[in-house]
Amino acid sequence: MEEFRDRVATVSAEGRRVWVYPRFQTGQFFTRRAAVAAVLWTILFAGPWIRIGGQPLLLLDIVHRKFVVFGAVFWPQDAFLFALAMVTGVVAIALFTVVFGRIFCGWVCPQTVFMEFLFRPIERAIEGDRAARMRRDAGPWTADKLLRKTLKFLAFYAVSFAIANTFLAYIIGSDALLAIQRDPPHEHLGGLSAMAVFSFVFFYVFARLREQVCTTICPYGRLQGVLVDKDTVNVTYDYVRGEPRGHARRDAVQNHLGDCVDCSLCVQVCPMGIDIRNGLQLECVHCTACMDACDGVMQKLDRPAGLIRYASERSIASRVPFQLTLRAKAYTAVLGLLVIALGALLLTRSAVELQVFRTAGTLYQVAEDGHISNLYRYTLVNKTNDTLSLALVAEDGRFRLTEVSAAGADLGAVVVPPNGQTEGMFFARADGNDLASGRNTLRLNCTDNRGTLTTVRTEFPAP
Ligand code: SF4
Ligand code: SF4
Repeated sequence: MEEFRDRVATVSAEGRRVWVYPRFQTGQFFTRRAAVAAVLWTILFAGPWIRIGGQPLLLLDIVHRKFVVFGAVFWPQDAFLFALAMVTGVVAIALFTVVFGRIFCGWVCPQTVFMEFLFRPIERAIEGDRAARMRRDAGPWTADKLLRKTLKFLAFYAVSFAIANTFLAYIIGSDALLAIQRDPPHEHLGGLSAMAVFSFVFFYVFARLREQVCTTICPYGRLQGVLVDKDTVNVTYDYVRGEPRGHARRDAVQNHLGDCVDCSLCVQVCPMGIDIRNGLQLECVHCTACMDACDGVMQKLDRPAGLIRYASERSIASRVPFQLTLRAKAYTAVLGLLVIALGALLLTRSAVELQVFRTAGTLYQVAEDGHISNLYRYTLVNKTNDTLSLALVAEDGRFRLTEVSAAGADLGAVVVPPNGQTEGMFFARADGNDLASGRNTLRLNCTDNRGTLTTVRTEFPAP
């Protein structure tokens, strides 16, 4: 009897949305998740205002292609580091999901954390708990209903606006955000539009979409089917202990009833509208509300807690303790290698990035004295928080680098601002007698008083 798997719990047979009215539930898991939420909020809201060495804690400035992580500035030239970090992140999430299921969704995902610990408490404060909300929504529009709904949506929008501003600060930086807030609106039409769109998206997600994000939009939710198996730890109903279910009676043992008293509290508290007793379902975000609810019932009945608990399907069926599977071990090994590679690349990351290209559309020039020269364009990126005075020198003594503007003068020091870049052009010259016909290799060192910081190679064409 698995009809419940035919459709998502919050969609009726007619294809209509079934609105979920989860009952508020406290308990040991709720308390722990609330503490985690408080820590996450502190980090999220304080993040844009924290400076490390003058740089923000985290900045994802896509427009200017500048990324700051823990005060370290990353440029487009560091794209491979981001790519590796993303691969590491995906493998880490996959591994974590194979072993611990969707625990991330319940404890850390911003969707759950904001919904359960910010928007739902506001909703409860204004509209009451499950029964009151159900009664009011089913009833006609009254002044009281209109007032409460208006108040709720205004509060939702205010919170969405605060969240949107925070997310925007991570993209454009806190200084730019303050400028948008202080300056006349016509000076920041783009920023204000982004603010309005972000605010509306957050508002719509938390006021209307809610659990639909987890079941139909979030790609991570859709991956569960391929990542989770019988050895994955999930929020699981112990059907061996709980079934056959039946209402609590003193003679439950004589009637051979299991520990589930069919009170349906675990269903009423579920924000996804599912019955965990049907087994693992796509919708479950591991919010632990059913675990708290059932533990409360078991406590009242003087029975052991954990009828719904973190457990794997196999451990419930065969009563064996949890074990790491071969797949989980293999993922761990791959993850370990990726973390080592990422760490090594981060530690050996150069403080300076030099890019040199021969100027497009130009050909070598042959001087009367037989010298050959080529024109180059360079970009020097300073990834440190200090101004750098850098020199570009040819590694091979045959080549001389000269200024473009002051013809013939040696290329002088290049000053690069902190976390900035300097672009310029130079000629590389060499005696034609010292060159091979066709393509020659020109190696350029970028140096300062500490020595060579980085080296690049380019071509030097000759007749
Ligand atoms: S809360 Fe526990 S006892 Fe009540 S219906 Fe759910 S599993 Fe059964
Ligand atoms: S089944 Fe339990 S853990 Fe899963 S979403 Fe519902 S209440 Fe949360």
